[in-house]
Amino acid sequence: AQARYVSIRDTPAVTRDGTRINMVMNAGLMADLPSLDNSGAEGVGLFRTELQFLVRNQMPKRSELSALYSRVLDAAHGKRVVFRTLDIGSDKVLPYMKPTDEPNPALGWRAIRVGLDKPGVMRMQLQALMRAANGRPLTIMFPFVAQFEEYRAARAEVDKTIAREKKLGHILPETIEVGAMLETPSLAFAPQKFFDEVGFVSIGGNDLKQFFFAADRENERVRRRYDTLNVSFLTFIERIVERCALSGTPLSFCGEDAGRPIEALCLAAMGLRTLSMRPASIGPVKSLLLRSNLEEIRKIISDARHRGEQSVRPAVMEWLRTQG
Ligand code: PEP
Ligand code: MG
Repeated sequence: AQARYVSIRDTPAVTRDGTRINMVMNAGLMADLPSLDNSGAEGVGLFRTELQFLVRNQMPKRSELSALYSRVLDAAHGKRVVFRTLDIGSDKVLPYMKPTDEPNPALGWRAIRVGLDKPGVMRMQLQALMRAANGRPLTIMFPFVAQFEEYRAARAEVDKTIAREKKLGHILPETIEVGAMLETPSLAFAPQKFFDEVGFVSIGGNDLKQFFFAADRENERVRRRYDTLNVSFLTFIERIVERCALSGTPLSFCGEDAGRPIEALCLAAMGLRTLSMRPASIGPVKSLLLRSNLEEIRKIISDARHRGEQSVRPAVMEWLRTQG
């Protein structure tokens, strides 16, 4: 299947009407790294660091993590890699951490909530990342930020780590970008100052959709019940695009939907300019973007909205059929 897309591997994703979409990939294991070259990904938009913690039976050492992150940066050959700090809790439970018995783990003590309450592991991870960068640029992203204050507190941890590393005489990264994942609807309504301060925002569509529709992403009965192309959800995405644009904040989308061609096309039409997806999706998504005119898609979406349709999918599918 991938052979079909080899010819466009190095072609930039530019739509018919001239909009350039940045195609980056999701990763989490060393085994994913060769895909950086093979898929034509322009970088890693989401590196899920928890996988390194989950495949062990004890807490990894800082030096081990640092060596791993360094190999990731080596493999990227200067392409940007967005390292997401540990996103544990909910569906990802570390075998060597005391299990917390929570009635609703997805709404529980997870991700940055753990990181801020028990900062030891987060500090160790931040140090490992800075040492891995060793003079190269570093990009750090915090998962599951629900309010401005959590971003501020996490950012403060980064600044403290910078100061500590400097004092210890370690080489600091050339630049450090710090961003937040938008995975809870609350963050979309944060004060504009949040969007001014944050280095970048990445929409974690898997979680965002689950909380937007109150439909468990793990529950087979409901997980496909609501369409990503539902007008309410797309309107919400558009609002996030506007808020980021107002502050000039770079925005990306890194949930599974970014790797589904029709969803990706509609996200681009809503204003997303960076899509992060599994490497195998880059070819199919790019292929559709190259053939599409975003202005036309915007018109189709807007017409479907005015007709009061629940999802724009039928209208977009119909348009695709007429394109042949
Ligand atoms: C997401 O929630 O969309 C996301 C990218 O993170 P994860 O799937 O790891 O929760
Ligand atoms: Mg998530």
